[in-house]
Order: sequence, then structure tokens, then C-alpha cells
Amino acid sequence: MENDVIMQSRMDRAFFENQEEYEEACLRVLRSGWYILGKEVEAFEKEFADFIGSKYAVGLASGLDALWLAFRVLGIGKGDEVIVQGNTYIASVMGITINDATPVFVEPDEYYQIDVSKIEEKITDKTKAILVVHLYGQSAKMDKVKELCDKYNLKLVEDCAQSHGAMYNGQMTGTFGDVGCFSFYPSKNLGAFGDAGAVTTNDENLAKLFKIYRNYGSEKRYYNMVVGANSRLDEMQAALLRVKLKHLPKINDERESLAKRYSENISNPLFILPEVRANCKAVWHQYVIRVPKYRDELQNYLKENGITTICHYPIPPHLSQAYEYLGLKKGSLEITEQYADEVLSLPMYTGMTLKEQERVIKCLNSFKHI
Ligand SMILES: *Cc1c(COP(=O)(O)O)cnc(C)c1O
Repeated sequence: MENDVIMQSRMDRAFFENQEEYEEACLRVLRSGWYILGKEVEAFEKEFADFIGSKYAVGLASGLDALWLAFRVLGIGKGDEVIVQGNTYIASVMGITINDATPVFVEPDEYYQIDVSKIEEKITDKTKAILVVHLYGQSAKMDKVKELCDKYNLKLVEDCAQSHGAMYNGQMTGTFGDVGCFSFYPSKNLGAFGDAGAVTTNDENLAKLFKIYRNYGSEKRYYNMVVGANSRLDEMQAALLRVKLKHLPKINDERESLAKRYSENISNPLFILPEVRANCKAVWHQYVIRVPKYRDELQNYLKENGITTICHYPIPPHLSQAYEYLGLKKGSLEITEQYADEVLSLPMYTGMTLKEQERVIKCLNSFKHI
């Protein structure tokens, strides 16, 4: 046990904590003889909408699909600009560019969320929407974002892939905008056992459009209204997600305790620890420290001691090969690039033991640059 590798993320412990419930859900689906768009998806959509506090939720095949379909149903495409933070997972940006719209990047603030004081200068007459990413399980500063959307008549899309249950001023992320986009990739707080995603919205018409688009653009079988996608949440994942959703408050509480313990016990002056904005509830999808010097040395040191960590994310989207065509050079987003060089996500998962966490903390505190 002592020498076991501590993984940055692991999914098995959450499963074994409630193994019987998950297995029962699977058997129920297997025996039902109905595997796509049935009772489980419908029930999950209702339960998830209730949890988030939105009128509608529509199950989809992934978080990326949620993002690109959001811009599609909002009519955002070629010639349109969408404002998004520079430090995000590349899927956020792909959601924009799959529709031939152009991402316009804004630097993050000290909480790793979009810096709301730098949005307005990026708004042009081509700007159609703001995509906020509630990164690492914290909320963006939503009152200011909403104010700008109202002032400039912009659509608001939220990337909630990392923020299931996170709140701003007591309001759930995924309820602020026109559409909330969720991923249930297995390592997310509400993780499925395969790929899955969903959107939330209060707009009945948008909810209807998502249901049409996810199923080849048809509402009625073989009558296709638009060129859609095959992006259906399947019954098996929906049934499993219904079980996980019941445990999500507990999962988020556990992550909060883990985060608290990290914050109270990591004392190495070489690191900058994460802070939570006042009036925000974070769900700690990641516990991200910054190591302005020697980040890579620290990562190696931890690895030598059997502790794996991950950088979220080492290459910001604007510098990735995929977005070379945007023509943004190194240095164009200084803070985003600095964060990419400094961030490190510590081990954080359901079922992480006190002993494991103590080993991580001890190792972090013993790190010195030689
Ligand atoms: C995971 C993630 C996505 C993509 O979700 P998939 O289900 O893997 O397609 C999008 N945005 C962010 C911020 C994510 O963390």
C-alpha cells in the first residue's frame, strides 16, 4: 500500500463505493431490451434539470457535442465571433470552430476564470456570444458577464464540463446562460462509465432543437428537418448517471474536504495555492497549484515518489497546432501562457484516503530545488 502509485485521478473507487446500485442499473437496462432514447434518458434528463435548476436538460453523447450543438442551435457560425477564455480545454474552442465561427480569446483572472475586466475591449460588431468556462470547478464572475451580454445583446453559453454543482452567488452554473454544456466524461465530478454529455436550458424551443439535432435532425422518424448529428445519450449511461447523480452532493463534499486539507497543509513557499472567489461554491474538479519556478522538476520529483500529477493544460488552444491558422503567436496571451507553464493538478478523486493525501502533502512540502 505504502508504495502504491497515487494516481492524479481514478474512477474505480467511486464505482466500488456503490457497486450494487450501478450493477443493478446496468442489468435493468440490459434486460429491458431498449437501449437508445428511452425511459432512462428521459428520467435522467428530468432529474438532472431538477438538480441544476433549469427547466430542461437534453442528454447528448459528449461535452464537445453539447458545445458545438449549442452554437449551432443559437445560429452562430461563419463570420461570427465568440469570446472565450484563453486557458481552457481545447474542446471549448472546438465547439466554436466546428461551426466556422471565430474564437476571440480573453485572459484569465487569478481564479483561472475569464477576466471580466478584459472582455469589453474584445467586443466587435461581429461578436455574437460569450462562452464562459467554469474551469477547475469554480464559477466565472457571472454578474459581470451577464451585464455585458445584456448590454451588447450577446448569447451566453456556459461550459460546465468541470462545474457540476458549482455556484455563483447561490445560483447554479448552467442556469445563467442560454445554454449550459455538460460533459460526463468518466473523470468529471458527475462522470459516466463511457462518453456522455448534456445541455441545460430554460428555453423550450432550444430544448426541442437539441432533441432534433441529436437525432439526425429529425423529430419524427425519417423526416429530417436539418442536417443534425448522431449524438444520443444511451440508456446504459443514462441509467448509470442516475445513480451517480444521487451521490453527486456527497462526491462534491468529499472533494471540498480534500481541497481544504490540501490548502491547510501544503506549506511549501514555492507554490501558489488556489483560492475561491467570495460568494462562490467550488466543486474542485481539479486542485490546481501554480509553481512559477521548477514546475517540471516538481512533477518529476513527485513521480519518482509514486505520485502522478497532470498539467491542465500544457499547451493553450491558441498555440496548439490545430489553431495555427488563427495566426496567434506565442506572447499574444501572456497570462494564459504563463499559467500553462506553471499549473499542476494534484491527485483528487472520490475515495482518496487520508493516508494517500498525507503522502502527497508530505512529498510536496519536502520538495526543494537543488
Ligand atoms: C471535458 C471537457 C470538455 C469536453 O467534454 P467531452 O465529454 O470529453 O467531449 C469540454 N470542456 C471542458 C472544460 C472539459 O473539461
